Amino acid sequence: MAVAVERPANDELRNLSLSGHVGFDSLPDQLVNKSTSQGFCFNILCVGETGIGKSTLMDTLFNTKFESDPATHNEPGVRLKARSYELQESNVRLKLTIVDTVGFGDQINKDDSYKPIVEYIDTQFEAYLQEELKIKRSLFNYHDTRIHACLYFIAPTGHSLKSLDLVTMKKLDSKVNIIPIIAKADTIAKNELHKFKSKIMSELVSNGVQIYQFPTDEETVAEINATMSVHLPFAVVGSTEEVKIGNKMSKARQYPWGVVQVENENHCDFVKLREMLIRVNMEDLREQTHTRHYELYRRCKLEEMGFKDTDPDSKPFSLQETYEAKRNEFLGELQKKEEEMRQMFVMRVKEKEAELKEAEKDLHEKFDHLKRTHQEEKKKVDDKKKELEEELSNFQKKKAAAQLLQSQAQQAGSQQTKKDKDKKNFFFM
Ligand code: GDP
Repeated sequence: MAVAVERPANDELRNLSLSGHVGFDSLPDQLVNKSTSQGFCFNILCVGETGIGKSTLMDTLFNTKFESDPATHNEPGVRLKARSYELQESNVRLKLTIVDTVGFGDQINKDDSYKPIVEYIDTQFEAYLQEELKIKRSLFNYHDTRIHACLYFIAPTGHSLKSLDLVTMKKLDSKVNIIPIIAKADTIAKNELHKFKSKIMSELVSNGVQIYQFPTDEETVAEINATMSVHLPFAVVGSTEEVKIGNKMSKARQYPWGVVQVENENHCDFVKLREMLIRVNMEDLREQTHTRHYELYRRCKLEEMGFKDTDPDSKPFSLQETYEAKRNEFLGELQKKEEEMRQMFVMRVKEKEAELKEAEKDLHEKFDHLKRTHQEEKKKVDDKKKELEEELSNFQKKKAAAQLLQSQAQQAGSQQTKKDKDKKNFFFM
């Protein structure tokens, strides 16, 4: 039976030696077995201009051919394209996501080029935070899409960093582990490369850009990491072409004057990058993403939402208390808003009523005016009618008189004719 003994806070831990084998020394193996069966995930963000060699380097690093169509230089803006793959080496399964910055550096105005990258990184943090805040979480089998490493591809100009590089790296350095690399390092001469590397590092320092620091606190990797840090930024060459060198096939780029071997440390730093990124520090990159970058995002986001660990008197403040304080604050604000809306409503109603009254008054005035005009018009028409009627009756009278006169004249005329006829007849008889 297990007995739990409460230990006083100031009690020192006592070392006891065991008299026989117990079995908890298998704990690391248990961890390894569990992690192996679960599989791992690793997400790489490649930031660099179109055609700088991002896809080729990814293919070279993971010894495979990831399908990707060559990007054009005609993109109107920067967009991020993520592709996920299941890889297996021995019995270790790796879910790898490669995110490419399509169209980076192709626009005339590059002021906003960093924005889609920052948004992408934040979106992945937000998705993880939302999963964490769920009541029913499934972080165990959650497909983590947070970016663990950002390979920043610097053009092999031999001069200095471009302002786009500095601005982008500065915007990203608190969100992601940046590993700067000089792309297509076979195009730069050896003595120039050395100067170019120190120039880049001093520019990063003077602009306060924080790049990923290989961890030196753990004994097993301290030495290799310290030695490798000196070679930053790694000058890499990528190629998937196999060339026969001696009696061995190896990845290389063939030129008329010779062969650049990708895995030859005298030719470039490809092996150093692969060692640092995959073999030695992959787990640290994952851990740093969670404990440093995601933690910062989570803290800022929760503070933005009004959550705090302490009250104004620096006393611990629980989530429940924060929630209740926020709820009360919210309810208060809601009530205030409700009262404001009610007052606004009353005011609006009053305004509308006044407007309606005014309109009614106007209508009445218009109606009265119309009525008056109508009456005046009617009177005029009546007068006119009377006048016309009078005219008509006069006319009728005149007409009757004229007719009378006419008939009298006719009568007189016919009597005269008869007399004349009688006279005629009298003479002829
Ligand atoms: P992305 O647009 O950044 O993905 O660039 P790609 O990987 O498609 O490479 C563009 C071109 O650069 C291809 O023709 C590659 O063969 C070439 N390239 C890639 N890596 C190197 C390199 O290390 N050195 C040289 N000289 N050319 C390279």
